[in-house]
Order: sequence, then C-alpha cells, then structure tokens
Amino acid sequence: MPKVLVVGSSVGGSIAADTLRDLGIETILLERDLNYVKPCGGAVPPRAFSDWNIPHDLIDRKVTIAVVHSPRHHSEFPVRSSHPNPETDFIAMVRRERFDRYLRERAMSKGAELIEGKLEHVDFGPRGIKAIYEDKRNKTHVIEADAVIGADGAYSTVAKALGLVRLPMAVAYQERIRLPERAMAYWEQRAALYLGDDVSPDLYAWVFPKCDHVAAGIGAGAGKTKAARQLLANLKHKLRDQLGEGLSVKFEAHHLPMHPRKHLSYDRAALVGDAAGLVQQTSGEGIYWAMKSGEMAARAIAKHLDAPTAANLRRDYDAPWWRAYRSTYLFLRFLQRISYNSDLQREIFAAMCDDPDVQRLTFDSYLNKQIVPVPWLVQLRITKHWLETALREWQQLRREGVAYKAA
Ligand SMILES: Cc1cc2nc3c(=O)[nH]c(=O)nc-3n(C[C@H](O)[C@H](O)[C@H](O)COP(=O)(O)OP(=O)(O)OC[C@H]3O[C@@H](n4cnc5c(N)ncnc54)[C@H](O)[C@@H]3O)c2cc1C
Repeated sequence: MPKVLVVGSSVGGSIAADTLRDLGIETILLERDLNYVKPCGGAVPPRAFSDWNIPHDLIDRKVTIAVVHSPRHHSEFPVRSSHPNPETDFIAMVRRERFDRYLRERAMSKGAELIEGKLEHVDFGPRGIKAIYEDKRNKTHVIEADAVIGADGAYSTVAKALGLVRLPMAVAYQERIRLPERAMAYWEQRAALYLGDDVSPDLYAWVFPKCDHVAAGIGAGAGKTKAARQLLANLKHKLRDQLGEGLSVKFEAHHLPMHPRKHLSYDRAALVGDAAGLVQQTSGEGIYWAMKSGEMAARAIAKHLDAPTAANLRRDYDAPWWRAYRSTYLFLRFLQRISYNSDLQREIFAAMCDDPDVQRLTFDSYLNKQIVPVPWLVQLRITKHWLETALREWQQLRREGVAYKAA
C-alpha cells in the first residue's frame, strides 16, 4: 500500500495528513516534540474555519476592530468586507497550543499514525524515500515511504536533505501578558498594529487578544534581529498604560522565512508552509498558507503516488498554487516596500487606513484570500487620496524636520 510521510504536525502537516487520509493514503506523521507550541500571534482568517470545517469554539476572540498606530496617526476601523456579514467579518484569534492539537488529533482520528521523533535525514531513491529519525531516547529508526511532505517549518530538515539553502529570514519576538478582566475589556474585540523605527524598523509590531491575555510582539527583518529584544521593550513601554497591571506569562521567538522557494516540489517530495517559504512577507501571515499548501501538496502527491516525480508534482501543486496566489504574494510584497520602510511611508499607510475604499479592499482580500478586482473608479479615488496624503505627510515631516534643526 502506498505510504506518505509527513514531517511536522503543526498546521501545515496536520492538514496534509488529514487530506491524505481522506484520500485513503497510508500516512505517517512525524513530530519532533508533541509538547512544542509554535510561537505565533494566532491571527487566522475565518475562511480557514470554513475551508477545513474547524469548530469555532477554538476561537479565543473575534476581532472586529482594527487599530493602526504610526508615529503620528491613530486609525481605528471595523473589520468589514464589501458585503458586510457578521458571521465572517472578523479576525479569529487562536492559541496555537489548542488549535494545532485539534488539527493533529483530527488527522489521527482519521487514521494517520503519529510518531514522536526528530527527523535527521532523508535519502531519496528511485523506488522510495528512507527517513532517518531519532526518538526521545536518542534511538535511531528508519521509515520507508513512497514520498515525503516537508511541513517542518522555517528550519526544515526535509529542505536540507533536498540540498536547498536556508531562506532569508526575519525574526519575530512575542510576549504573552495576562491582564486583569478590566484591562482585557479594551481588547475584547480589538487588535492593534504599531509602525515605527522604535518598534519594528521594517515590519510591524502587534497586540493580539487571547482568552485571558494579549500577545504583544514585534517583527525584525534581516540585519535588525539583534535589536529585537529592545524593540519589544519599546513596544511594551508604549503600551504601559494598557499593560500596567499585566503579568508576563510567556516569552516566544522564532524565525519567519521572508521569501518563497523557487520550487515547492521535487522528486518524491513536496514542501509546504514555512518550509516552502510561503509566509506573506508584509504581514507575517503563514497559518492559512501552511494549511492551504498542506492540502494542495497532499492532493498532488496522492494523485501521482505511482510516479511522484518533480515534473508531475510541479504540474499539480506548484503550478495551481502560483496560478491562484501569485498576484496576492506580489501585491503584498509591493505593499511592504511602499509602507513600512520610512516614517513618511508609515504615516501615509496609517492615514490611508482611514479610507473606506482601502478598508474594504484590505478585508475583501484578507477574508477571501484573493486579491479582489478593483473597479477603475475606486482605483482612481484611492490613487487621488494616496497622492494628496503623500503630499500632506511629506510637507508635515519637512516642517517638523526644519523645526527640529532650528531647535
Ligand atoms: C512570533 C510569530 C508570530 C506569528 N503570528 C502569526 C499570526 O498571527 N498569523 C499567522 O497566520 N501567522 C503567524 N506567524 C507565522 C506562522 O506561525 C507560521 O507561518 C506557521 O506556523 C507555519 O506553519 P507550518 O506548519 O509550515 O510550520 P510550523 O508551524 O513552524 O511547524 C513546524 C512543525 O515541524 C516540527 N518539526 C520541525 N523540525 C522537525 C524535525 N526535524 N523532525 C520532526 N518534526 C519537526 C516542529 O516541531 C513543528 O511542529 C507567526 C510567526 C511567529 C514566529
């Protein structure tokens, strides 16, 4: 019977295993550490819950108000799409310890065999793969399978065994801070983004609400990672009035790949999620993309188990993936280049968040996971607003610069 090994039982790996089992494929799920909790803000689009039939009781909070702070602006606006619907117009906040466990256990309930062990290496042969892993007692074992799905995250051992280089990485630091009920009330339905050199020179900082705590974190791109602890301290200083009585309960840090790999598939192997570099560079959003790529890779492998060659898998996984999502990746990368890198860009970005057209466009795309076509009249309106805002912000920063020099 054909067998597929999935390495990593987080969001990408569990959805891959779940899909393989739905297709009747014998599946082994190899996880380094069953107690591991992926450091993560846990913001998930509601689409993930409907796409994979996930119960809403895994959602800690439904965020319906987004707040964006730049050094000079404060913008607060509803999470609302072009066709307002309270059932779907929110950002789900989950705790990865619950969310990932649910997905893993569901894959197991469908018959995926779970093994706790750390993948050390994969040998690829003409008739199959041999995966060498170490169990918790440092004993070495071998799994033979027809193909492997690498869902083993940013430091993927499967990618290394395929001879691939490390992707460019950013680092994300996050602290979970438990707040008294009174202080949590402010975060009941709110999530905040902070822009600025002092909290995140090239990405953004965030505060995401969970059941009884908030997750406050910062992203730092290549070359800025040494400053990450200080950036997080600066964010907490900014939030001192809201977090004053809070108790720090967990500190987490992890790398995020900042570029997709050239290929997602290889002979007898497919990479998904962070292992494939499928995080959105602008937002650091990777959960939905890991799940979707896990599903698509599993379907392609199941279809070609008699000949899981790079060419076959690229035709049925890489090609449809990029057909569906290339424009999303390109647009969001462009948005990052024009939004986060200087105070002028950040002020324009925050000011544009007050524009109802921009709000609708943002949430239509985020909630549906597609760049929605924009009518030309709306494009014209946004462009005019952007030019006016850019000119106003440039003049303001110039005036402030002149005043600062004079002082
Ligand atoms: C601080 C931070 C905040 C984030 N916030 C958000 C957010 O709010 N929303 C969002 O969408 N995304 C967010 N992301 C990104 C998101 O966490 C990732 O994109 C997502 O978890 C990727 O899922 P994955 O299944 O590809 O890999 P991962 O979640 O990284 O899981 C990899 C799995 O593989 C296992 N593994 C690794 N190596 C081996 C091995 N050798 N053998 C066996 N098992 C192995 C690991 O133990 C782990 O279980 C954030 C990331 C960080 C770091």
